Amino acid sequence: MMMKVEKPNDWPANNREARLENLQDVVEDFIEDPDYKKKEVLVSLTTYNDLNESNIMGVARVSEYEIALINSLYFYAIRFNINSLREYMYIHVYTIILSYRMLPMMGLGVDNNFFDNMDGLISQLSLFYICYFNFRTEKIRKFSDAVLHEMKQGINYCNDNDDIYDSLVHSYIQMMNDLSFISNSSILGIITFTRDELKKLFSLMARLLKKTNTDINTRPLRGTLCITISNWILKSRHNYNENYLYKYMDDNATTSALNNHEIWMQKLEFLNDKREGTMVAEIFKDKNWIKFNWAKKIQVNKKDNVFVTSFSMSKPTAALEKEYGKNYFGYKTDRIGNVLAPIQEKSEVGLILGNVYFYDIIYGKKEAKKELNDLFEIINQFNVSDSKKVDFANQIIPYWIYSFKDKKWMNEKERRYEVSLSKDILTYKNIAIDNRFLKMKSTLFLYPDFISTNNIEKSKLSLFRLDKVSKISTKEVLFCNDCLNDNVIVVGSDKKICNVCGSENCIII
Ligand SMILES: [Zn+2]
Repeated sequence: MMMKVEKPNDWPANNREARLENLQDVVEDFIEDPDYKKKEVLVSLTTYNDLNESNIMGVARVSEYEIALINSLYFYAIRFNINSLREYMYIHVYTIILSYRMLPMMGLGVDNNFFDNMDGLISQLSLFYICYFNFRTEKIRKFSDAVLHEMKQGINYCNDNDDIYDSLVHSYIQMMNDLSFISNSSILGIITFTRDELKKLFSLMARLLKKTNTDINTRPLRGTLCITISNWILKSRHNYNENYLYKYMDDNATTSALNNHEIWMQKLEFLNDKREGTMVAEIFKDKNWIKFNWAKKIQVNKKDNVFVTSFSMSKPTAALEKEYGKNYFGYKTDRIGNVLAPIQEKSEVGLILGNVYFYDIIYGKKEAKKELNDLFEIINQFNVSDSKKVDFANQIIPYWIYSFKDKKWMNEKERRYEVSLSKDILTYKNIAIDNRFLKMKSTLFLYPDFISTNNIEKSKLSLFRLDKVSKISTKEVLFCNDCLNDNVIVVGSDKKICNVCGSENCIII
């Protein structure tokens, strides 16, 4: 993308700028000729396992060029639906504020003009910046309250100017949509909104839309709201669980995954639980638990052509190893959904990545009913007729269909990734589909964050892991020869033990 702003002569002059510059090259290369390998380089570059990986050394500044580059990358993220890139642009803005706060610790004076260029940020990123900056500076509110507070200030500022008001509403809806895609809550811990906080944030959205008399069923608003609300509710399950994720596989599957670079997602009808997708319809048979009368009229429809793959948040147990295999692949943060985004093309539109829905399974009807009432409570806040609430709910309920299972499966602690394909309007790259499986090319199993120490393909995986770690680390890391985990070395600590498996068989690279 052409940028009118001139690049500073010494660009890049710090790690943040270098990361952005690198990202721009990788994104443009991916868009030009997308494939699964480039997609995964892109996802790796946009994922932090630990903020200690970011390096704040270098020139302390925020140039006009950096802001223009942020806006341009954000534009790509939206245009091509690259959710990991969209997520990263918020994390990047967040690291700008963090680096400013580090200045005194680095013996540098506070520069009053440090943030001058932030005015040029696209409005939704700018809203996030203002909310987060004031939240950190004032330290008197929770982050959700800081958002509500800043929005109130913004509305007062509009002073009945409709254009400014509309733009503020748009920024708020877009920011809530963007933040709902953040897969790594451990980095942006401030956005782990509780269900009560989410209800307040959506209540504000309902009031904003009421003032402009907007029906939530108009397009494209309905699609945006369905995705935003479902993303938030589904990811806030189990209080934004950030446990490590494990994929268990038998020896054959492990060896073939490393040879064919494929992950196989299974069509729902073939999963081992024959009751998949039936629970929502069952709990709607008796309607006494439903808090709102309009919600008793909801029609439960299933989605077609859904393929899933499951990971577990459970550490190895004899039962899991027996059922699924003793080799595991471990992931410290959830970049899996972003890696699995299908590369698809739509005629006339070109490249557009597909969405992957992922969530922790809820086991048992009691918790399922409670969550559905949370959903209805949010929909109920919107100022539309009961029949329009039903229309909206009918559109959103399919996101829940495959996310509830019977209690007998609860030891699996499953996190499920769901892709639905529409073969009529899209063509896919690096994907083959048969009756039962969607076989997606992926290097997910070539580059896990750690593995079972007895993994049958350990020697091969060790080479891949060492190669990746040495390429992406900006600092020295402690590499574990047993589970292949890389630890960030904390300054001042002389610990030489792997923080995943506890082994002392580690080297510094
Ligand atoms: Zn280890």
